[in-house]
Amino acid sequence: MKIAFLGLGIMGRPMAANLVKAGHEVSVWNRTPKNVEGARTAATPADAAKGVDVVWMCVADTSAVEHVLFGPNGIEGSLRPGMIVVDSSTIAPSATLKFTQRVRAKGADFVDAPVTGSKIGAEAGQLLFIVGGSEKSLATLDPLFAAMGKKYIRVGETGAGESAKIGMNLIIALMFEGLAEGLTLTKKLGVPSEILFDLVQNSMLRSGVSDYKGPFLLKRDFSPNFPLRLMHKDIRLMLESAGENGVKLPALEKVEEIYRQSAEGGLRDEDYIATIKTLEKLSGIS
Ligand code: NAP
Repeated sequence: MKIAFLGLGIMGRPMAANLVKAGHEVSVWNRTPKNVEGARTAATPADAAKGVDVVWMCVADTSAVEHVLFGPNGIEGSLRPGMIVVDSSTIAPSATLKFTQRVRAKGADFVDAPVTGSKIGAEAGQLLFIVGGSEKSLATLDPLFAAMGKKYIRVGETGAGESAKIGMNLIIALMFEGLAEGLTLTKKLGVPSEILFDLVQNSMLRSGVSDYKGPFLLKRDFSPNFPLRLMHKDIRLMLESAGENGVKLPALEKVEEIYRQSAEGGLRDEDYIATIKTLEKLSGIS
């Protein structure tokens, strides 16, 4: 298929590379010029999207998606009936619905397909896509999901994928906060983190979050797989969505404070596990 891939960050670049590897004809665009071997590098989103079957986006946030779609040199002018626009960015479900209306007015379809699996999953072509969209468009996209992921799960119509995705990240944020606070308290009480982690991994506390993040925590490796600024953005999306829909999230409101303090303390571009450094600082642990 002919695909335009827009956004070559931690996630987008390996995703685009996997489409090339699967034999698709790919054009790529990134705000800060970047290439993907075997793909055509386009000068603008509009240029990348000319004549393609599918436009796939993976950019930072809601305003970045709006910019790529409808900003100067956005893809809107290149849309034509039959084309499918797919968004793998994590953005507001309500914004997704607005963008969908505008894209459908041009005869193209819109599918939200945020992902889970992080950098490792993107590189290995093992992402899980959390999808909202029509059955017909998903059938067309099937080989592309297969090139970049292990599976896709259709949650419902367009917008439903983003709703489920922010719910999943809410669970991750709270699970990680539990792990980080448990490690912080026990460290202050004199229990070595390696031993507490061993206990976690050999008990009912073990989880995908502890499997993935524990080794990085023990090595104190805070290099970004999922940057703190993006998890903070997701937490704000969850709270906004909760506000719009009359839902109370008291634990998440407290966790947001830790992310805010961490971001203000210069940790934005580290992995979100660096929030443990803020907890340690607040607890007088050096
Ligand atoms: P990233 O490495 O920070 O990349 C962000 C991308 O968005 C870059 O290509 C960036 O361009 C582009 N961008 C930012 N603002 C823009 C704007 N105003 N206009 C156009 N492009 C803009 O982020 P990532 O980790 O790849 O994440 C991408 C999306 O996937 C996010 O929504 C994130 O929440 C989600 N996600 C990430 C992970 C993860 O583990 N990393 C997992 C699941 C979902 P520049 O290169 O010019 O800055």
